[in-house]
Amino acid sequence: MDAIHWLEPISMTNIRSTIPDFPLTIRGIFEHGERIHAASEVATYAGDHMRRASYAQVGERVRRLAAALGKLGIGPGDRVGTFAWNNQEHLEAYFAVPSMGAVLHCINIRLFPEQLIYIVNHAADRLLIVDASLTPLLAKIAGQLTTVERYIVIGEGCGLPRETLRYEDVIASSEPVSAWPDVAENAAAAMCYTSGTTGNPKGVVYSHRSTWLHAAASSMANSIGMTEDDKILPIVPMFHANAWGLPYSGWMCGADFLMPDRYLQAERIARMIASERPTISGAVPTIWNDVLRYVDANGVDISSLRCVVCGGAAVPRSMQEGFLNRHGVRVIQGWGMTETSPLAAVSRPPRGTPKDQEIDWLNKSGRVVAGVELRLMSGEQELAWDGESVGEIEVRGPWVTASYYLEDCPEKFHDGWLRTGDVGVVDAKGFIQITDRAKDVIKSGGEWISSMELENHLIAHPDVLEAVVIGVPDERWDERPLACVVMKPGASATLEQLRDFLAGRVARWWLPERWAFIAEVPKTSVGKLDKKVLRARYAKGEIGEVKVEKPG
Ligand code: ADP
Repeated sequence: MDAIHWLEPISMTNIRSTIPDFPLTIRGIFEHGERIHAASEVATYAGDHMRRASYAQVGERVRRLAAALGKLGIGPGDRVGTFAWNNQEHLEAYFAVPSMGAVLHCINIRLFPEQLIYIVNHAADRLLIVDASLTPLLAKIAGQLTTVERYIVIGEGCGLPRETLRYEDVIASSEPVSAWPDVAENAAAAMCYTSGTTGNPKGVVYSHRSTWLHAAASSMANSIGMTEDDKILPIVPMFHANAWGLPYSGWMCGADFLMPDRYLQAERIARMIASERPTISGAVPTIWNDVLRYVDANGVDISSLRCVVCGGAAVPRSMQEGFLNRHGVRVIQGWGMTETSPLAAVSRPPRGTPKDQEIDWLNKSGRVVAGVELRLMSGEQELAWDGESVGEIEVRGPWVTASYYLEDCPEKFHDGWLRTGDVGVVDAKGFIQITDRAKDVIKSGGEWISSMELENHLIAHPDVLEAVVIGVPDERWDERPLACVVMKPGASATLEQLRDFLAGRVARWWLPERWAFIAEVPKTSVGKLDKKVLRARYAKGEIGEVKVEKPG
């Protein structure tokens, strides 16, 4: 039989849907939680006690904030930046700003000053909501923020030029709005900038619709899975890809929130988990690694956690095993990026997996969340999902960006698909295994070595605290791996022993012959291994490299 070819897209037929295009908006998420889950709680850690408020109380303050912003002249499409930790006030801005038709821009407080200046001016933020503890940081650059007209400061603090209002005064002096403007679902709701590992950070603008769909998809049981019985501890900052959407998905489900504010040290987090008993939490691997070491050493009870979401960088298997075997906590892996809102894939063991094999699946990067489409590419050729063919992952979908804000970047897009820059394989069940970032993969003699896999094995060694592997120039092979390790205090393993430890685990030609002990691993503004900095240090001759020959 001949194959059928549909040439035209099908939009209008002789029958029309009886369901209107009812807009999916952040106001919709907000009002649902406010009304249906009025008694759910938002608790913020204040260093020595918890500040607690019900959804109903937070809801009223959201309405007051929106009214105040309106009185201050903030209108549809205006950008309102936040420079804040994860706390109740930040959550209030998350709902007030988009619901009134303005655009929330969460600013990464850890960017370099010149990047901060760049993104605030590029986004043209008119007003910034700032945590008092962060005003000294902002004061240094405030003179160069050309579009900012005024600041609202949460807590006691000042020292900013231009008009500065106090958050609590602003809330107290406004009546709660009772009606919201009609906002189209495709209107801009929020924006985030990538952390800009090369060149300037790039802006991604989320719509109400993309945010709504991302919240619904990420709360599904097949992805993070949450209900009103949960208590969510978002450790991932609200300025890092909108805390992976947890503020919206959690509120949509009516879960309680436990906000860590600026108390992000492993000990504080572990103690917070033990006393407040959250069920879901999310953070990058470096944070979980620190928490695991702390709870291992101090016997803290973290068993309330039903689901730890870890992502933003490769998740070491040894860490997942540590959480599961020693604390009964399941660490699932999420994969995505600022450009994908960010959740694109989640690792959950497929049905029928025997308990003792779950870890094999949890350690994969994940399966795409329903809505996201994926293809594996090598140039123009689409590769098979056979678990072996290695290519670049491309995605598209209702919460995947198709461009950057006011910046042309054709090399990042491919016929409507986002080039993720992540290299990996996809197996027949649809599980992705990222093996490297395209720019980190080590090209040795025409073959690829996964720096991520070498790091994953190295960190499993009991004496290794952190490990990072970069490709360095080599006359014969073009590039070879340089393994840089930070040892645990009092550790005694030699580099030869580390090499031997790797020897049974990776192909012989992958074994690094260049090694270095380093004092600490440089981190990016969102806590990931910063290979760019390490490469630059290597190029300047600042890393004392030691040759360790392969075993005979
Ligand atoms: P930035 O690009 O600014 O560092 P993102 O948080 O958007 O910030 O980073 C996205 C990148 O993080 C992805 O392209 C990928 O390389 C990496 N990443 C995210 N999740 C995972 C994961 N589970 N495993 C490996 N890498 C990951």
